[in-house]
Amino acid sequence: MYFNSVIIRLKWRQKTFGLRSLPGLLYNQPSVLVGRTDVASVTPWLAPIIWEGTFDPILIDSIYKQQNLTIPTTVFALGKYTRFVKDFLESAEQHYFVGFRVHYYLFTDQPESVPEVKMGENRSLTVRKVQSLNRWQDISMSRMETWKKLIENELASEADYIFCLDIDTKFYGRWGVESLGRLVGVIHPWFFDAPRNRFTYERRPESQSIHSGGKGDYYYAGAAFGGSLEDVHHLTKTCREKLHIDAANSIEAVWQEESHLNKYFLLNKPSKLLSPEYMWRDIHAKAAQIKVIRFSNVAKNYAEVRPNP
Ligand code: UDP
Repeated sequence: MYFNSVIIRLKWRQKTFGLRSLPGLLYNQPSVLVGRTDVASVTPWLAPIIWEGTFDPILIDSIYKQQNLTIPTTVFALGKYTRFVKDFLESAEQHYFVGFRVHYYLFTDQPESVPEVKMGENRSLTVRKVQSLNRWQDISMSRMETWKKLIENELASEADYIFCLDIDTKFYGRWGVESLGRLVGVIHPWFFDAPRNRFTYERRPESQSIHSGGKGDYYYAGAAFGGSLEDVHHLTKTCREKLHIDAANSIEAVWQEESHLNKYFLLNKPSKLLSPEYMWRDIHAKAAQIKVIRFSNVAKNYAEVRPNP
């Protein structure tokens, strides 16, 4: 019994942590002298920050190809947000983990409205019906509970990593295995060049998501995060608990689950950060540091698309 569990553990470690390179693979020489100088590509706790120019797609794809990965990816489309599903899925099929096994989970209150989208090899879509909700804040926050349950009930033995993405988005460039890590946060496009006193953290002590004083590293987007199943399970379980405590105390954090996510990342530092290339906004002016826009929030008329103000 003990012996078996050791073998299982070792297999798991090898699969998850081994960065095996193919013999004979041709790729550019890495340099210790030349790299991005206009942006930081590592945090003070030594987590990489992924920007164009910090990884070699050919090399990194060949390494992860050997790990037989499945990437479950969740999106929610309730109410009028079903209109975003087609562009999301079609653009993901062009740019998101191309060549890898991806299983999309789409949670919607209108399964009948999900459009037919042609999926590539090893790519699948599961549509799940969920209850309609009257407030966009509740829709957004309720995702923590759904993610937690999905990981516990279905994914634990099936997959390695998971990403949780907003649906009112589109892929414009590669989003691939360079984004994989134990716990992955994405730097919010509004605040990547701002001092932290301008970050829209929750500041009220009554909320479990409070950031006080000068605390806080970066401002992370609620619209995209991911990591290993184990780490994302812990994240969603914790944030869900904190959301419940807030609700019992009649307080809703200023940016709902995004505020709780930011608090979680303050106390549980992400092992990898994705630059705002991985979460831009279509309505933003370009920035010199952003060489590639990979994933972006599409423009929307908030008043028209949301169920409540
Ligand atoms: N959402 C939804 N229907 C709604 C409101 C929100 O399906 O009526 C989901 C959808 O997946 C969306 C996410 O919740 O991408 C976050 O909401 P929203 O995009 O409105 O938040 P924002 O990022 O604009 O603050």
